[in-house]
Amino acid sequence: MPDVVAAPARGLELYAPPRLATPLRISGARLRGLDKLGIRSVQDLFQHYPRYHIDRTQLRTISQLGEVLENGSDAEVSVLARVRKMAPSFSPRSKPGQRAKKLTITKAVIADETGSVDVTWFNQPWVSKALKEGTEAFFFGKISSFRGKLQMSAPRFEKVRTGTEPFNVGRIIPIYPATADLSTDQIRRLMWDTLAASQQILDPIPEPIARRMGLMSRSDAIRLIHFPDEKQEVIQARRRIVFDEVFTLQLGLVYRKRQLERTVQGIRHELPKQDSLAETFAAELPFALTAAQRRACDEVLSDMGKPYPMHRMVEGEVGSGKTVVALYACLVAIGNGHQAALMAPTEVLAEQHHLTVNELLDRAFGEDEAVNLFAAVSKRPIVRLLTGSTPTTQKEEILAAVAAGEVDLLIGTHSLIQDVVAFADLSLAVVDEQHRFGVHQRKALREKGEAGEPDILVMTATPIPRTLAVTIYGDLDVSILDELPKGRQPITTKVGLASEARQTAYDLIREEVRSGRQAFVVYALRDESEKTDLKSAKAESKRLATEVFPDLVVGLVHGDMKSAEKEAAMTAFRDGKTQVLVATTVIEVGVDVPNATVMVIEAAERFGLAQLHQLRGRIGRGAHPSYCMLLTDLDPTKAATEPTIALALERLQAVASTQDGFRLALVDLRQRGEGQLFGARQSGIPQLKLARVLEHQDILVAAREIALEVLDVDPELRAWENRELQREMRFRFPEETLDVVASG
Ligand code: ADP
Ligand code: MG
Repeated sequence: MPDVVAAPARGLELYAPPRLATPLRISGARLRGLDKLGIRSVQDLFQHYPRYHIDRTQLRTISQLGEVLENGSDAEVSVLARVRKMAPSFSPRSKPGQRAKKLTITKAVIADETGSVDVTWFNQPWVSKALKEGTEAFFFGKISSFRGKLQMSAPRFEKVRTGTEPFNVGRIIPIYPATADLSTDQIRRLMWDTLAASQQILDPIPEPIARRMGLMSRSDAIRLIHFPDEKQEVIQARRRIVFDEVFTLQLGLVYRKRQLERTVQGIRHELPKQDSLAETFAAELPFALTAAQRRACDEVLSDMGKPYPMHRMVEGEVGSGKTVVALYACLVAIGNGHQAALMAPTEVLAEQHHLTVNELLDRAFGEDEAVNLFAAVSKRPIVRLLTGSTPTTQKEEILAAVAAGEVDLLIGTHSLIQDVVAFADLSLAVVDEQHRFGVHQRKALREKGEAGEPDILVMTATPIPRTLAVTIYGDLDVSILDELPKGRQPITTKVGLASEARQTAYDLIREEVRSGRQAFVVYALRDESEKTDLKSAKAESKRLATEVFPDLVVGLVHGDMKSAEKEAAMTAFRDGKTQVLVATTVIEVGVDVPNATVMVIEAAERFGLAQLHQLRGRIGRGAHPSYCMLLTDLDPTKAATEPTIALALERLQAVASTQDGFRLALVDLRQRGEGQLFGARQSGIPQLKLARVLEHQDILVAAREIALEVLDVDPELRAWENRELQREMRFRFPEETLDVVASG
């Protein structure tokens, strides 16, 4: 017996995954053309949004055309006219002795009640078949005057069909990203026909939300973004679609986070008392925590006290003191009798963390690891370093101690996540410079917990505004260190033409070294390359040591050196034995030598904006003013004609103009587009087709708020009015990324 209750009226689900999407009812060349554009279903087609629109609403009469031409407007015109004469296409004969050109010309005369005009097409012989005498059509194209006579050259046209609206002329028409084998006109026709034939587009946004945000329906939005009747409608339609894109994104992110909180067994840490390991450490630091650091520590603390795992990101300007916050968290874990891990992207950085951490711990708790007299609090935490170049015997010792719970804090590189590394009781994993790691590496670290999933703290120096951070990392909580430690001296940054400014740069180095400071000279390449004359670190370090600074000690560090050599080079610089350190980008992250006050960057245009900011962050870390010279061979007088030069110089000027990483991040986003932002976020995040996180911040914030509200009331989205929403959220997030429980 058929179900008596009619199934709810369904419609087209715009975000349906490929297997549920509506197939396109076309074939052959067009289908292949669409495929190249990534369009494989009706859903894809509808989301192939116009790049822009042109206004063809103004129909002219033929008598008006002369006037339009006189006004010097080279705008294209639309007329509605009938073909009066259509001549067969012909090829002009080439003159004797000339090479025959393959040219076909098609001529016609079109007319309306006000007059007639000649029309010419080149190399479009098919026109003479498409347009017969008497055919009525909209013509759209440029007008010109030829031998004193008005003519329209190569207009596009659309025949008037009774009972259908024209979609190419007489209205605002969409211009699409197209390919060689599929023109924007073809896409437009296909879009028009498909929209006309499509079932109703389903709208999963509950009515009260749409009303509150002042949004039109989804089907109106899709129709109007392609074929608006008025310009204003495009704006409204786009707003609706942008909201949809970011709303289900936020919904998924928040849902995932809540899921995690509800279902994953974490480790609850006791909050530190005044005399706890963490607080003693904070009190014994050689400096007072900045307000931002204190706030971040408190936020971390409150997370760690919860029964579910912490997932927090500390986002801070270069030099804002993230390491201290990380270490504080580690000490909360250790003070609770658990172990902590700190993973860094490079050996240089891991080694440096190992050094700093030990220094700070020595200061707070004494140097003697063996002292373990009273309560856990007075025990000096035991720290070990594990990297790819730790000798095997030592590595085995460390692994055994980690497995036995004798090591409190393990610092290292990727080597921390190898299978052989087993913790007795890991309760916190810190990932420094997290943008350098992949999701899998973070996940592997998470799986190292024995008693429950460890708390995760990720640190990043890619400063993006909070609204953006929340969009991209919406399933993480974010602490922002927006304050530099007091007493930091400014960094004066200058851009200079290498040939002119290099000497000044060397003088500066000499001057600073004379007052006891140190300098970096950074090169884009390690070795001399035959292809370019870029100065390489190796060759240049020799030249600097012998010709420029024969009286100074010049060191060299680059990525290809053996780990021990690298370490020796860094130690010599840190200890002040080397005055000038020639380096590649191995020093980009983390390196902390407060006595270094000069950085000269050669071929600075080779570096990305964020990279320059990071590099420069190696200076200005102490009590002395610092100087950064960005040397380039790019000729500023060529900027006007060569866009790549203009962009590169704009980057350099931006770096020179501000030390504010947030502002630089925005410049970077504008230059490179937002794709890379999500690239950094990696997989598991739905695509945004229309939403631009910078431009649509207001919609983003609203979407986030509403997502939180909706999930507060209906955590599983099971309520009748939210069911379509739940379906769409699942469509947009791959299953495994949403169901944390299943994936672990
Ligand atoms: P980043 O956030 O770039 O990782 P670091 O953690 O390396 O920064 O800290 C940069 C420098 O600032 C280090 O030398 C560190 O000892 C110092 N520092 C950190 N916090 C403070 C503070 N509150 N006051 C003064 N110096 C600090
Ligand atoms: Mg750091």
